[in-house]
Amino acid sequence: MLKRLFGKVEETKEGEESIEEVRAQRDELSTLVAGISDAILAVDREGAPLFYNGQFAVLVGPERMNQGRSKLLEMIRDPDIVNAFRFTIEEGRIYQLKAVPILQKDKKKFYSLSVSPLRRPDRSVYGAVGMFHDVTELKLAEQMRIDFVANVSHELRTPLTAIKGYTDTLIADEKLGRPLETSFLEVISRNVDRLMLLIRDLLDLSTMDSSIDHLVKEKISTEELTTRIVSQMQQTFEGKQQSVTTTFNTGFVQADLKRLEQVLVNLLDNASKYSPAGGSIHVVWEADEEGEILLRIEDTGPGIPAEHHDRLFERFYRVDKGRQRETGGTGLGLAIVKHIMQRHGGAVWVQSDMGRGSRFTCQFPNDVTG
Ligand code: ADP
Repeated sequence: MLKRLFGKVEETKEGEESIEEVRAQRDELSTLVAGISDAILAVDREGAPLFYNGQFAVLVGPERMNQGRSKLLEMIRDPDIVNAFRFTIEEGRIYQLKAVPILQKDKKKFYSLSVSPLRRPDRSVYGAVGMFHDVTELKLAEQMRIDFVANVSHELRTPLTAIKGYTDTLIADEKLGRPLETSFLEVISRNVDRLMLLIRDLLDLSTMDSSIDHLVKEKISTEELTTRIVSQMQQTFEGKQQSVTTTFNTGFVQADLKRLEQVLVNLLDNASKYSPAGGSIHVVWEADEEGEILLRIEDTGPGIPAEHHDRLFERFYRVDKGRQRETGGTGLGLAIVKHIMQRHGGAVWVQSDMGRGSRFTCQFPNDVTG
């Protein structure tokens, strides 16, 4: 369509159509192109712009646009893009690029580009038109998948390497008639536990990612649920002489019971795990002015430096990578909490200062409160 319109404009120059028709076609072209969400740039054989739309101006940025229209291709500064236009003009063929990075206001965005030749009625090429389609989100999702697989492989390899090493030693000892080293079996058992936890969390996340996981919301008593979970985890707290106190300023929350239990367990487990022995943990349920239900879990642990707060809920993110992998966590607990809260239409965030403990807040939207 675009090509046809450009073609017509060319024909008109040869006097075959009236000025009104040319204007009408130009208006038609502008309306059409303004409605397209992709950035469009058409250039002549020398690379001077014949046409570009608003999205292209956004892509290039106002400061570069102001540097003069004759240099648009150079302003893009990307040799791959310039070559794509050059190739199309010289060869008269379509040229495509999958994901070219373009810096926009210090942010790297990715565009797919398809450049097509512009032809006169005699088929000679007088320029090229390129369509830039934003594929940044796709590219980021792809990168996340790649990182995730790399992380999972790494997390699996560590306990597997330990299991393999200790079993081989046990087999060698057995052949040499040495006595059975039970501490080796304990290491193996601990690493198998870790693998099982990891697989459980991975399966949980993948179920929540898939569409088969439906939340079944019900009216849940905040007190009944919290008391039950805290008593189930009593051993964990007693093992570190930690006390747990509760406050119920709101009676009910509308949520999926299994998922909410998981949120509480994960946050309480962290509060205990990362706090020293003798600390205290406080669980508060309350409603804010908008009627949203808030669940707060506060501890008197070491706190989390502010620079980690943004990334804390990412899969496999740990503040102290080496040490915290050893403490037994999978690095997925908070990612699961975030996922569950998002599925409920709510949110989770952390407030923490070094040396002053941490406070995790889960917010349930008021449209689901009971
Ligand atoms: P993990 O399985 O390692 O506990 P999480 O996703 O639950 O993974 O937590 C991610 C990281 O956040 C932890 O490794 C830890 O560094 C930090 N963290 C979480 N909760 C707390 C807390 N209450 N106090 C201090 N650090 C915490």
